[in-house]
Amino acid sequence: MTLRLYDTATRSVRDFVPREAGKVGVYLCGLTLQAPPHIGHLRSGVNYDVLRRWLVRHGFEVTFIRNLTDIDDKVLAKAMEQGRPFWSIAYANEQILTASYHALNVLPPTYEPRATGHVPEMHELIARLIETGHAYPAGDDSGDVYFDVASWPAYGSLSGQAPADMQPAGDAPDRGKKDPRDFALWKGAKPDEPADASWPSPWGRGRPGWHIECSAMCWRYLGAEFDIHGGGLDLTFPHHENEIAQSQAADLPFARYWVHHGLLGIGGTKMGKSLGNTLDLDYVASLGVRPVELRYYYAAAHYRSRIDYSEDALREAAVAYRRIEGFVQRAAERVGAGRPDGLPDAFAAAMDDDLNTSAALAVLHEVVRDGNTALTGGDDVTVRTTLAAARAMLDILGVDPLDPAWTGGDRAGDLRGVVDSLVALALEQRAQARGRKDWAAADAVRDQLKQAGVVVEDTPQGPRWTIGEQD
Ligand SMILES: [Zn+2]
Repeated sequence: MTLRLYDTATRSVRDFVPREAGKVGVYLCGLTLQAPPHIGHLRSGVNYDVLRRWLVRHGFEVTFIRNLTDIDDKVLAKAMEQGRPFWSIAYANEQILTASYHALNVLPPTYEPRATGHVPEMHELIARLIETGHAYPAGDDSGDVYFDVASWPAYGSLSGQAPADMQPAGDAPDRGKKDPRDFALWKGAKPDEPADASWPSPWGRGRPGWHIECSAMCWRYLGAEFDIHGGGLDLTFPHHENEIAQSQAADLPFARYWVHHGLLGIGGTKMGKSLGNTLDLDYVASLGVRPVELRYYYAAAHYRSRIDYSEDALREAAVAYRRIEGFVQRAAERVGAGRPDGLPDAFAAAMDDDLNTSAALAVLHEVVRDGNTALTGGDDVTVRTTLAAARAMLDILGVDPLDPAWTGGDRAGDLRGVVDSLVALALEQRAQARGRKDWAAADAVRDQLKQAGVVVEDTPQGPRWTIGEQD
């Protein structure tokens, strides 16, 4: 069976053929960390987690990169507004994002690079583009560097726009630009911006433009050419259009498939803090809906469709999930949990058809119906096979009620969030102790964490912690 995926670049459903047999490289544009994630953002991670699980099921070895945009205009604006360092805001929001994805049973990416860790790669790309005539330093004294859109004839092909119809980039004043559509690769530091938000560069101190960040991280972790680039439909233009232009103009063939997911909106508009309609995991919990049920709600819609949030639809999804969960629990009590096995062909065919999860769920409901009939009729053989098949399907969607990720009880997700916060607090105390060179106090925090089963490892990206034994 071949997986077929809708590719935005060709506007067609295509057979998925990886660049290298057996291996798949996926890049998903992660969050810009100016605010905590809402349930619209979290849809993204769940959609691509289902894709990833399905690719693994196909036998591919998947390298899954999901980045964090920890510096850009929005993060810096928030920092200046709050009088806090940009990086403390980005990191605080990163912690909440990580805890939220844990709570939703989204597998951690193979690696999660931060934009600020890749400034040298961005410089290398920008220098290449200037050398080959596709970028130029601003004509004013701003220190900006712009991509020259007119130098790249394919510009606009991803979003299907004619150059003449395009909006100005709007990311810097037009006075230094050759063309208003030219977008910033590098942004010269402004006198009123915080000093810790700029880096030296051949074009003066400054910070990266948003688009070049992703090109640099794709290149670094997946190479010059890779298989799937993902993100929300709203990123198609300008973000992904710009990523393609600057990467290909720098001689990187870049992504072979562009997979975009639909957005989750509310009342016909986008969910967002500025609109005052932001719903997060705590809000969902306050409705009595568990993270596993929210995940089922996401998975029940096709990934490319728009979800218009309504509390009724969310509650209905929760009820539908509880029916499936009820069968799994009763069947497991009767014949033992067993393990996920015997994925139905019809389910696989639906998933291969551009991840048609709604058709796949219809297969699941049918199996659960048969399983319930077998439970009533005392047909244990059928109970066993339907339970194994149901669990195999639920596992692909990441919502198997018997998965250890969920079996910690209803509050398992919440508890993980609590542990995350407590360890972060302890690590902050340790960092403060180290800051005042109180090594004994710093070591004491580390030892106490170790006694509680939390192992701290210092990495170049900062302390990492895990629960359990070292090594
Ligand atoms: Zn991106």
